[in-house]
Amino acid sequence: MPAPNIDTIVSLAKRRGFVFPSSEVYGGLGSAWDYGPLGVELCNNVKQAWWRWLVYERDDVEGIDSSIILNRLVWKYSGHEATFNDWLIDCRKCKGRFRADKVVDNKCPSCGASDWTEARPFNTMLQTKLGAVADDDPTALAYLRPETAQGIFINFLNVQTAMRRKLPFGIAQVGKSFRNEVTPGNFILRTREFEQMEMEYFVSPTAEHAKLVDYWVEQYLEWFGSLGIDRENLYLYEVPKEELAHYSKRTVDIMYRYFPEREKPWEELMGIAWRTDFDLSIHSKNKVDEEGKRINPDSTEDLSYFDEPTKQRFYPHVIEPAAGVNRTVLAVLMDAYSEKTNDKGETRVILKLSPQLAPIKAAILPLAKNKPEIVGMAKAIKRSLQPVLRAVYDDTGGIGKLYARQDEIGTPFCITVDHQSLEDEAVTVRNRDTWEQERIKVSELAEHLQKRLKPYPVPPETI
Ligand code: ATP
Repeated sequence: MPAPNIDTIVSLAKRRGFVFPSSEVYGGLGSAWDYGPLGVELCNNVKQAWWRWLVYERDDVEGIDSSIILNRLVWKYSGHEATFNDWLIDCRKCKGRFRADKVVDNKCPSCGASDWTEARPFNTMLQTKLGAVADDDPTALAYLRPETAQGIFINFLNVQTAMRRKLPFGIAQVGKSFRNEVTPGNFILRTREFEQMEMEYFVSPTAEHAKLVDYWVEQYLEWFGSLGIDRENLYLYEVPKEELAHYSKRTVDIMYRYFPEREKPWEELMGIAWRTDFDLSIHSKNKVDEEGKRINPDSTEDLSYFDEPTKQRFYPHVIEPAAGVNRTVLAVLMDAYSEKTNDKGETRVILKLSPQLAPIKAAILPLAKNKPEIVGMAKAIKRSLQPVLRAVYDDTGGIGKLYARQDEIGTPFCITVDHQSLEDEAVTVRNRDTWEQERIKVSELAEHLQKRLKPYPVPPETI
């Protein structure tokens, strides 16, 4: 049973230290959120799981970390300056402003009227100025990147040559992106500052691109499964031709059931796009149009690739799986949410997070906090586990309360140190999902837990 709605997660997230509304002491900042002690761990675990899965376990993907602010020309030639627009409409009745493509049944989401102005474009790249320059100096204009992808394209040749790569291979990057969203909202689903996990997979122009899109869709469905997201809550949307971005010949969106309470419950979790050779060729100095004119007179590099077996030079095509960290975190939290009634009839929240994502893997709880020997032993166990897994010591309540708190934040194991432990050098290990308890020797504890905290079952196959 996943969370019944996003609001359930908003309140759990605030209560338990995952996500707080940003700038709350000044009344907040529309749709900005701060990740608390548990939220930062969860985000890091999602990013690490992704990096491990793509960059470490496959043999055909490299990682990079490019600048957030790039030369403005990158955004000129990528087409973002001209076309990275949302189409805005205003409600003539209540003056509300909305994204034309997000209005359902032509009704104003604020007042229900259907009297709209004409749609007009609004560029959603966030602007800034570089250096100590005059306010109106146009040469100082720069953008905060709206996608991490361009930082990968402009480094294609650097990575390919430095790492002596042959096609096909991918370059992965995770980091912040910024979009001046017209209607941000729904918690961390749509914000102006967010994090992306993007990978550009470079292939030959004669590869079977449509099939490669399917391949990456399958890979990601499996990966989301390994994070504990139920396949039933994912839906594939083949983006129709008329809705494709200017660089794409095919895009499949993986949607998640973020709104189970609504008639239309789906919203995009990620997209997998065949971006053709658009980006590499548009940033290249040698590419010419039909009339033989250079399409990019500003570029100093040619981002083409020489294919040794066929002795041909070409611009590789790209398959791009682009996922959001925050949307993945929200989907993971919603899918992990469950409730269970104990034998006293009380309903408890259990966050059944996949062990690899759980912010805390083990909580060490002393049964008697006024007994120095028990406290000492519990703290020593915490210290001994810490190098291998994230462990915490907690004695701030009775054992029932402590268990409930750890269940609610998704800690897979609670370890209780009691009077008996002082004699038999053993502790009670309680399982979050079954509430079953086992007695385990302290000397075998680390191995016992590690075996049960395996990242995920099947490593992906490399093509
Ligand atoms: P949408 O249609 O929902 O605005 P998009 O199609 O513009 O999304 P992409 O450009 O494909 O999004 O970006 C790739 C991924 O980055 C998205 O699938 C999503 O997970 C994430 N993302 C994009 N915009 C935001 C945002 N404003 N807040 C949080 N995550 C975002």
